[in-house]
Amino acid sequence: MNIHIDQVIKRFGTFHALNEISLQINPGELVALLGPSGSGKTTLLRVIAGLESADEGEVYINGDNVTLDDVQKRQVGFVFQHYALFRHMTVFENVAFGLRVRPRRIRPAKAEIQAKVSELLDLVQLRGLSNRYPDQLSGGQRQRVALARALAVEPKVLLLDEPFGALDTKVRRDLRQWLRKLHDELAITTVFVTHDQEEALELADRVVVMNHGKIEQVGTPEEVYQSPLNPFVFDFMGSVN
Ligand code: ADP
Repeated sequence: MNIHIDQVIKRFGTFHALNEISLQINPGELVALLGPSGSGKTTLLRVIAGLESADEGEVYINGDNVTLDDVQKRQVGFVFQHYALFRHMTVFENVAFGLRVRPRRIRPAKAEIQAKVSELLDLVQLRGLSNRYPDQLSGGQRQRVALARALAVEPKVLLLDEPFGALDTKVRRDLRQWLRKLHDELAITTVFVTHDQEEALELADRVVVMNHGKIEQVGTPEEVYQSPLNPFVFDFMGSVN
């Protein structure tokens, strides 16, 4: 599925969080939104997801205009910052959540949900932990539960907000490589937010550099790092672990 973002403006009061953003994302592409804190990355991701409406401009996923009321229909998977798992639910229940809350008409039968969740837990290598609660898991395991939950609805587009933000360096590296592999297997159009340029460089097919609610540069990781248009690409490098 391709994503087409056309002249999107998002204001909070008089503040322009997104200022005329236009971007094309190709089917199966893995794109990083890179930029310092407050540059509008999360806001753009939320507008793509239909979790936030644009004040002006449009977002299309596979030609369909994104509006707030058809999040389910568009099959977008979202992994929130800090994962936002349900603490009172087991791993199984967290992953099954997206399927269980579907309208009756399109809700899978219980056995089907069971099979789907087992398959996903295999995929994210968490088989055997399905009865645990989030508090009983490591950060990396929680991250993978969040990913399985997002994948449960068979999204055509996967959106991840700082997917590795809360993890230590070693776990980040392992998970990054694993996510890249998974993405290549599933070929889902994926957009992730990061302020870590190493992460963007290693993971993404294309990097979108944002600053002050605007896109400053778009290119392959090599293009962006060999000739950055803005020195902040390097300035904030030291500020993350
Ligand atoms: P980033 O993800 O790059 O750190 P955000 O998209 O979260 O940036 O935020 C961009 C700007 O918009 C920030 O200045 C932030 O304070 C502001 N902002 C984000 N969400 C809201 C909101 N719900 N209300 C008011 N201001 C917001």
